[in-house]
Amino acid sequence: MSFDSLGLHSSILRAVQAKGYTTPSPIQEQAIPIVLTGRDLVASAQTGTGKTAAFALPILNRLGPHKKPGPRVLILEPTRELAAQVDENFADFGKFTDLKRALLHGGVGYGKQRADLLAGADIVTATVGRLLDFLNERVLRLDHLQVLVLDEVDRMLDMGFIKDVKKIVSLCPKNRQTLFFSATIPPEIQEIARFALKDPAHVTIGRTRSVNESVTHAIYPVAHHLKFPLLLELLKKTEYKSVIVFSRTKHGADKIARKLKAEGHTVALLHGDRSQGQRKAALEGFKNGTLEVMVATDIAARGLDVAGVTHVINYDIPATPDDYVHRIGRTGRAAAEGDAFTLVTPDQTGELRAIEKFIKATIPQLTMEGFDYKAKAPVPAPGQGAGPRPPRQGRGGRPGNAGPQLGRSGQGQPRHHGHRPDGRPTSGQPQRADHRRGDDPSPRAPLPGTTGGKGSGGQQRDKDRAPNPFIQKGRPGAHWQTRNSGRR
Ligand code: AMP
Repeated sequence: MSFDSLGLHSSILRAVQAKGYTTPSPIQEQAIPIVLTGRDLVASAQTGTGKTAAFALPILNRLGPHKKPGPRVLILEPTRELAAQVDENFADFGKFTDLKRALLHGGVGYGKQRADLLAGADIVTATVGRLLDFLNERVLRLDHLQVLVLDEVDRMLDMGFIKDVKKIVSLCPKNRQTLFFSATIPPEIQEIARFALKDPAHVTIGRTRSVNESVTHAIYPVAHHLKFPLLLELLKKTEYKSVIVFSRTKHGADKIARKLKAEGHTVALLHGDRSQGQRKAALEGFKNGTLEVMVATDIAARGLDVAGVTHVINYDIPATPDDYVHRIGRTGRAAAEGDAFTLVTPDQTGELRAIEKFIKATIPQLTMEGFDYKAKAPVPAPGQGAGPRPPRQGRGGRPGNAGPQLGRSGQGQPRHHGHRPDGRPTSGQPQRADHRRGDDPSPRAPLPGTTGGKGSGGQQRDKDRAPNPFIQKGRPGAHWQTRNSGRR
């Protein structure tokens, strides 16, 4: 199927073409015709499936030319970065129209946002708090709203925004169209959907719990005090183009970033306590390649669309299996490929098990060749506090075990980095990186030491690799492509 057959105006098709999209993704194929009819929609789809265009294109199509009276479209997003990303998509897809936009979010002044609203924005993309400020100020009214998009609803729920979202929904005209996007639709989310939508169509893309199969996963078991040295070693031995390092906490992210900088890395730091200017600079620097490593917390990085992220490193194992899926979704986007490494301490086997159960796959465990797993924790200098936390005794790990083993019943010893399961030695480098850089036209080799488990490098890559589950659903063999495969 091509975009031409979806019933979109030529001005929008030109913009789609300019963006380099040639084939609609499955969610675009399914959602665009529904949205064009004006019907409400509940879509269960993760970021990375092309869901932004799935709502932006038909919305732009329905709007026609600019009109004065006030916003006709409102898109609610959980984070500033996501709001900015969606607004940018509307700018790109609407570039051959005269429609006006306003992007409203916190962390910056009110002046430009107020001016954009007063200039008659047709499309408002907003985070909840700032939108409520403008509604309270009465600079913004929603009387003429035709389409309301609630995006990433599960994350809005996690972030405690649902009461405010409901309030905003109740301020919208009743005869609007509502589009509802959420990666997962548990009962609380269904309840919100019932509240906000009328007789919606349902679209589900992929198994909501599945991980992106274009991503290769590996676990690196390590003692707590060796996490940072192992991170450095991973960065040294991995030929990444750009990498996101995830920390569970803001404080932890600050610390990792500081230490990486001290080791000569260029670092973008993204978390909720950073000012909007800092967050913007970090994201821009990371996107344009001047900053090679991004250190981020889950909330800040949720849904971020940065092309060409080759590696995700979970410095801290994610707090929930769902977060694991979201974190690794930052790489391997739009059917590109990526690696996801997770550092796991002996006390975290329970969390690891929960992730593996959730994604229904066993993640291969690797060790880093040449890394000193027996190194002692540094003794803190007087007055320097407690120093690094010693490893707690784990359920699966041996007491005080500083080595790489994670207790896994029925699982052999971790394999050594640098050896394939068949015992053939490798260079000790994830060789895919060369291929990704275009230096080596041969098919990608598997990650050293990985097996053919789901998402692992044991699969044959490229032409005949397993299709992404989001792509496969209902249309075996279908692919969507872009000509813009580089960084944005
Ligand atoms: P999203 O899920 O909307 O965040 O999109 C994920 C990534 O896929 C973004 O980089 C989009 O630009 C890209 N994308 C979306 N739709 C298509 C398409 N039909 N062809 C190629 N790339 C796409």
